[in-house]
Amino acid sequence: MYYQAPRQKFLSLADLMNSTPSPQLGYIQNPLDRVHNNRETEGFIDEMSAREDSLAVVLAGDRPLYRKSDNPGATALFSISDAMALAPEGETLFLGIHPKGLPVFARLAKSVEDPGNDGDMHYVTEKGPADVEHCDLRGLALRGVVPAPEAGIVALARSLFAWHESHKFCSTCGKPSNMTLGGYRRECPDCGALHFPRTDPVTIMLVTHGEQALMARGAHFAPGMYSAIAGFMEPGETIEDAVARETFEETGLHVGTVTYHMSQPWPFPSTLMIGCYAESTTTELTIDTSELEDARWVSRDELAASLRGEADFSPPADFAIAHHLVRGFVDGV
Ligand SMILES: [Zn+2]
Repeated sequence: MYYQAPRQKFLSLADLMNSTPSPQLGYIQNPLDRVHNNRETEGFIDEMSAREDSLAVVLAGDRPLYRKSDNPGATALFSISDAMALAPEGETLFLGIHPKGLPVFARLAKSVEDPGNDGDMHYVTEKGPADVEHCDLRGLALRGVVPAPEAGIVALARSLFAWHESHKFCSTCGKPSNMTLGGYRRECPDCGALHFPRTDPVTIMLVTHGEQALMARGAHFAPGMYSAIAGFMEPGETIEDAVARETFEETGLHVGTVTYHMSQPWPFPSTLMIGCYAESTTTELTIDTSELEDARWVSRDELAASLRGEADFSPPADFAIAHHLVRGFVDGV
């Protein structure tokens, strides 16, 4: 069920009442009950699969399909019969149970090599219901194409499909493994090893020093956009260790207090963004140019102006956690 933890810092009741994350933060709502306690019960998933009132999301590669509608609005949740018509040969995941009591599945359209032979894979969907479109997963959340809880369901499906695509063989013995538990596990029929979907933790931190925050940009960012810095956690690290190490590696800054703010599943393909504030004890920048194109200290007032579109740089879009770190600093969190 959907649950977004409040910030883990010393909060007053007033803080808690104001700490609800913006609904525009992408992928954080997922209303499904994953029913892990039932998945190993013999016949349970078959029973769910036999239900004719099931719902399903459909992906063509990493592009979700959705159905346009003015009333009640666009949706990425198809009836299972429509999903089967759209992707008759694809793989199936059993994602969980919708709050309405309906099983929810995911179907992956079959992939074929590009007829233009450009090396890309193309995904083929068959004729299904009318008014079906597809959209990239970022745009789905960024533009609010479908309701936020549906974007969360699609993100879950995309992360699981991506894991299965890259983990078809047992990492213990090398033999082909089988999807089980509706997609939440793979099992090796040869050596019996069990494999579970991975999630890669990334720390993303707004480094602050008094009334200033560090804004940085990578060469691949949209023109004019500056954001928080981020990096993958390594084995054996605490979140605080990772924040300090990544900050020093990328900027030369030493950080003291690290405060957790909020997290966000990031389905590209399966990352967990761990949003933090990091108080810097130094201010001199030594930028790692292999990671960052630029980094600069920005005042709280300038950040507030950037959120109003009145600065000479733009903040990250509001579906990304970095935007909410910036907004939280501007609001004095
Ligand atoms: Zn094996």
